[in-house]
Amino acid sequence: MSLHPSFHSGSITCPEQLSSLQGLDLAAISRVAARYPLRISGYYFRLMQEVGAPLIKQVIPDSRELNDPDGLEDPLDEENLSPVPNLVHKYPDRALFLVSSECAMYCRFCTRKRKVGTPTMSITDQTIAQGLDYLARTPAIKDVLVSGGDPLMLSDQRLERILKAIRAIPSVVTIRIGTRMPCSQPMRITPRLAGMLKKYHPLYLNTHFNHPAEITPQATRACGLLADAGIPLGCQTVLLRGVNDRPEVIKALIYSLLEIRVKPYYLFQADQTRGTSHFRTTIQTGQAIMRHLIGHVSGMAIPTYALDAPGGGGKIPLTPEYIDNLTETLDFTTYLGKPCSYPNTIIG
Ligand SMILES: *Cc1c(COP(=O)(O)O)cnc(C)c1O
Ligand code: SF4
Repeated sequence: MSLHPSFHSGSITCPEQLSSLQGLDLAAISRVAARYPLRISGYYFRLMQEVGAPLIKQVIPDSRELNDPDGLEDPLDEENLSPVPNLVHKYPDRALFLVSSECAMYCRFCTRKRKVGTPTMSITDQTIAQGLDYLARTPAIKDVLVSGGDPLMLSDQRLERILKAIRAIPSVVTIRIGTRMPCSQPMRITPRLAGMLKKYHPLYLNTHFNHPAEITPQATRACGLLADAGIPLGCQTVLLRGVNDRPEVIKALIYSLLEIRVKPYYLFQADQTRGTSHFRTTIQTGQAIMRHLIGHVSGMAIPTYALDAPGGGGKIPLTPEYIDNLTETLDFTTYLGKPCSYPNTIIG
């Protein structure tokens, strides 16, 4: 597997490299890292030290990861929904194609924590070929989500070979890349990469920022390069306890995203992934945040709050309820709390 050369230099992968930080239990961190790998890019490590808890919690191993009886190994039933290894076909018209097992950093709340960055996630030329073959013989698939791990861990050349092969399948309309690189390692986004990606339009890219402090000058530059290449950018944020579970934090995040030309796409309720339960909030917390947004901030900035259903049921919106009654009239409450109604009958 050809990895992009810039990744491993300067990144933290051993608990001993954290010894300069105060108040950490390195022995506990080592036990966690033996099960779920530790990796923090040098860039994010510096940012994390400047910003504090909301970033630290995302990447520093926590002993609660090893004691999580409520967690499920594969909450979205992805393994059973994979007709070939590393390709998840859950919805009729789109598929999730996992092309890299590694990331520039390992988020402690990752949904694919069971395998990302571990030897159980095996991506080879053969699994890539099997995935491409499945896409080619399943013309119902119009939208291919290229993900991982992080697909931008691959070299430009290797990624381009995969994109070119997907683009050569006539039934595929859109290609989507899912990557945290604009947040975790924004230097990975180069003019050369943007120039390569723009050859495979219509190509969309969803990134992953969770906190406004992650929107740095470097991240701004990375997203600007991609947007200038005509790539529509979205963000899939995860709602995380102690990281971004307050309305002011999400509000600041989504305004900052619009400013760097990223459209907030999803705000995910955290999955029931084993080793991540300490990050979960209640649905009421998420809905209260959405009530602070809807009507109060630019509609362009508002993501869909959604849960990816356990067992592979797909994403369902958790938008708060504004409708009080829907019969011959629609009775509802406005975002300002005022009752209102609208006739719901066919006339003429
Ligand atoms: C999330 C997801 C998709 C894409 O869903 P959208 O709602 O279209 O963004 C596709 N396939 C799988 C397996 C997914 O988990
Ligand atoms: S970047 Fe994405 S895939 Fe990688 S560890 Fe973080 S959440 Fe998981």
